[in-house]
Amino acid sequence: MSLKKVFILMLIAITSAFAKPTIYILATGGTIAGSSSSSLSSAYSSGTLTVDKLISAVPQISQIATIKGEQISNIGSQEMNNEVWLKLGKRINELLSSGQADGVVITHGTDTMEETAYFLNLVIKSDKPVVMVGAMRNSDSLSSDGPLNLYNAVSVAVSKEAVSKGVLVVMNDEIHAAREVTKTNTTAVDTFKSPNTGKIGSVIYGNAKFYMQPTRKHTKNSEFDISKINLLPRVDIIFSHSNDNPDFINTSVKNGAKGIINAGMGNGNVYPSALNALANAVQNGVVVVRDSKVGSGETTNPGEIDDAKFGFITSDNLNPVKARVLLMLGLTKTNDPKKLEEYFLAY
Ligand code: ASP
Repeated sequence: MSLKKVFILMLIAITSAFAKPTIYILATGGTIAGSSSSSLSSAYSSGTLTVDKLISAVPQISQIATIKGEQISNIGSQEMNNEVWLKLGKRINELLSSGQADGVVITHGTDTMEETAYFLNLVIKSDKPVVMVGAMRNSDSLSSDGPLNLYNAVSVAVSKEAVSKGVLVVMNDEIHAAREVTKTNTTAVDTFKSPNTGKIGSVIYGNAKFYMQPTRKHTKNSEFDISKINLLPRVDIIFSHSNDNPDFINTSVKNGAKGIINAGMGNGNVYPSALNALANAVQNGVVVVRDSKVGSGETTNPGEIDDAKFGFITSDNLNPVKARVLLMLGLTKTNDPKKLEEYFLAY
């Protein structure tokens, strides 16, 4: 090999070793893109800043990655819906499989971030980093948390350690796994917790460290495929309480729900008349998942309720909003309760 060729090859190797990874920021809205006329008010509007504004507010991210931005939606995440989920999931799969992106950061409202994170965790077909981020204080607020959260999210997305960890949520210096994370406080910046397992890592001014590895199936090992799906089946969540009644359950069945997640009391317990209505729902072909409104711990099969007798399945330790996501995706493949129960033990 000539000296000139050796030199060129060395140059290519050196440049690619120092080339910055390409990170796509897909913006969906939320408080991180929110604004207010006052820096000291809890009144504000979500989803007002565009992705370009979010990126230009944190120029430091361009030092660690080549940043590209795309606006997927600009809504408060209380408006999140299946259509946006499918659009987001398909776009991420396209960006990662084509090699256009080395990782993806999704800016999102915090209200439903855990649902979107778990949905993506089950449908993304790549082990490249996919990181969700938001803020609890809008961009005009005193001490808003969005800019540092975004910097930390991009830092996690470029970290080699973030590969194969499934979808991650980065908020308030912490890294959480999509399956485990939940919003626990209406207003505090340390609202995101993983009650059953704890956070899996931390990220302090961009220095990301991981301490745990998610073990349930996700992303590349998931069997759920949205590439040809444009609609998801209806699954409702019913909340149990004392002196309950069967009306919401009956209405849900009447309106065509294919599945019901019952957010029961304690270990998934249900008021007697509501229990009868759930048993009837199963007789009518609706898949009923017994879950708990408690916020942590397993809903055991069986518990005080004999699931086999009623034809119910249980959620393991998924919270109701995530159980809804898994059941919707599960129902795109089967409505056999045995198979669906297997999903709850695997994902
Ligand atoms: N309602 C807002 C949202 O979820 C709250 C937030 O982002 O913190 O979009």
